[in-house]
Amino acid sequence: MCTTVEHLFEQRKHQGEQLFDVRTAPTERTNGPTRTTPERRAWRHSHTTQGERAMSRKKVLVLGGNFGGLTAAITVKHELHGDVDVTVVSSSDEFLFTPSLIWVPFGKRTRADITFKVGPTFEEHDVEFVHAEATAIDPEARRVETTAGPQDYDYLVIATGYRNRFEVIPGLGEGGNAHTITTMDDAIHAGEGWRQFREKPGDVVIGATQGAGCFGAAYEFLFNTSYQLKKAGLKDRVKLTYVSAEPFLGHFGIGGLPHGESLLGMFLKKEKIDAVLDTAMDHVDEGRLVLADGSALDFGYAMIIPPFSGQEVVRNTPKLADDNGFVKVRDTYQSEAYDDVYAVGVAAAVDVPWQTPTPVGIPKTGFPTEQQAHVAATNIAAQIRGEAPDAHKAFGDIPAVCVMDAGNNGVIILADKMLPPRKHGVLIPGPQAHAMKLGFEKYFLWKMKHGQVRLP
Ligand SMILES: Cc1cc2nc3c(=O)[nH]c(=O)nc-3n(C[C@H](O)[C@H](O)[C@H](O)COP(=O)(O)OP(=O)(O)OC[C@H]3O[C@@H](n4cnc5c(N)ncnc54)[C@H](O)[C@@H]3O)c2cc1C
Repeated sequence: MCTTVEHLFEQRKHQGEQLFDVRTAPTERTNGPTRTTPERRAWRHSHTTQGERAMSRKKVLVLGGNFGGLTAAITVKHELHGDVDVTVVSSSDEFLFTPSLIWVPFGKRTRADITFKVGPTFEEHDVEFVHAEATAIDPEARRVETTAGPQDYDYLVIATGYRNRFEVIPGLGEGGNAHTITTMDDAIHAGEGWRQFREKPGDVVIGATQGAGCFGAAYEFLFNTSYQLKKAGLKDRVKLTYVSAEPFLGHFGIGGLPHGESLLGMFLKKEKIDAVLDTAMDHVDEGRLVLADGSALDFGYAMIIPPFSGQEVVRNTPKLADDNGFVKVRDTYQSEAYDDVYAVGVAAAVDVPWQTPTPVGIPKTGFPTEQQAHVAATNIAAQIRGEAPDAHKAFGDIPAVCVMDAGNNGVIILADKMLPPRKHGVLIPGPQAHAMKLGFEKYFLWKMKHGQVRLP
């Protein structure tokens, strides 16, 4: 007997069963808080034909294929046992383990060591990968324009990360007077500068501008520089200065942690590093950093972390983004404006809960990015099943888990929440932190390459 979809629809409606029919469009616009049990899901699966499922299959489009995008894409596929089409569009065809960029300038890591091609990973998990850049998002039409043609979607995940906001002060960026390490190309270029510096050493300035949030990387690069100077026998000849917008040492853009300021102070003293804190930068001339108060620091080598902003494609989408181009999200990681558009990782806006004399940003690190991607994937799967998207986790409530490397030493940073008020927060210094970062790099690259996104 040939059963039509129409007939089945009526039959299931009669049986009180909600059908995966495109007409019911089980999105936030029509869905109710109905819970679907695993039994009910299995029943539904076994009582719909392949043809019906293909007709009603939803499409999830993910922009960006790094920490957030890769995790969200594979998780949503798993959550729905493959019964969903997932496409990832990313301007990079490589996964980049950004935490290891701090080692690239010193020749301790190459591109090949800390990247892998994402195509095979997605293929293994039945996720379509398109190596292209998203150029326009139309949330009303549920369509994204890309350099490889348009992509329609039922649900969209924006995981396009950051771009350097070099405009914050003149003298940063391409052709500028200071290096940075926030992208692979930047880090390679910073390495070329480092080798030239080794030939003709001078003083060194490492810093983070007003509005920057990636302070962990600035500290790591600072301590790694100190270590490398020692190894090169240059430590006594070179004055090393840390310049930061943070109100105090170890603020990290997260308000600091118990004993963090004194611990960082001890580290700096031991390494004979000067610190200029709570300061804005004005501009960088060749060999000279000029601060907002007019004072200046001369250097033979400088690495300065700029603030991040979201991608232009996000900023240009009406109603979606804040002034920095980050998507305004709820704690379900749905955008504030559209129930079917999600954003995770650096692309998602976070409200800074304090005002510091010099503005500081929030570090949107890897662990919260993964957590957000899981929440978003769970909610999309729920919406597709016709349930309410009720998984939620506010950014500030996600635990802080970070390892800060210092060359042959380091600090493990753990806190129950990214943002205060917290119950617990601890910094554990010692060489085990360096070993842990080395081990974590290998583990994480393996985990992501194999799409083992359910692992911690
Ligand atoms: C130097 C450095 C060190 C760091 N160290 C640590 C650390 O030790 N621990 C930690 O937890 N976190 C660390 N972080 C933070 C970590 O890198 C971020 O949390 C993480 O990268 C966020 O992942 P994401 O997927 O949101 O964005 P990203 O990693 O930035 O990925 C965004 C992806 O989107 C793609 N994309 C961009 N624009 C488009 C577009 N228009 N269309 C399609 N694709 C697009 C990009 O090519 C990229 O693949 C560090 C960051 C930096 C810069």
